[in-house]
Amino acid sequence: MICLGGTIGVKYACLGGCNMKSENKCPECGTKGIEVEKETIGKILKKRNRKYLQKKKDYFACTKKVCKVVYFCEGDHFDTDEVKGFIWFKDDAGHVPICYCYGISRQEIQRAVENGCKTINEVRKFTKKKKTGKCKKKNPLGKSCTKVFEETIELYRKKK
Ligand SMILES: [Zn+2]
Repeated sequence: MICLGGTIGVKYACLGGCNMKSENKCPECGTKGIEVEKETIGKILKKRNRKYLQKKKDYFACTKKVCKVVYFCEGDHFDTDEVKGFIWFKDDAGHVPICYCYGISRQEIQRAVENGCKTINEVRKFTKKKKTGKCKKKNPLGKSCTKVFEETIELYRKKK
């Protein structure tokens, strides 16, 4: 079997289109989920919902904007009203952060781009914000914000 997109395995879902895991589809909308560490989910969930996080299961995020499911595992899911803070892939408002480690929102990226910034570093410099912590812990996908940050810069450059 050939996987073109990523890791084949029991623990990790391939993000490249091969369907190694059947349970990684959102129970609400059917969108393929992105695996997220339980440690990250534990920090994003509202306190009262943390006890429902099941240690033995793999969790995925549904990144489809209109779907209410934020995280799901086989047989259970957490919806937008069960998490705290802003989830960038569910909410496209300007104040929602895109770079979680610096706390930089869409609006701030837009302003920086309008002032000539073209790269992540230029945007970070422009906002004069300080690094607050690790993206891995604050970003609801539990990984670096580089990709979505770059996409957001591109989006506003096109709109300019
Ligand atoms: Zn969904």
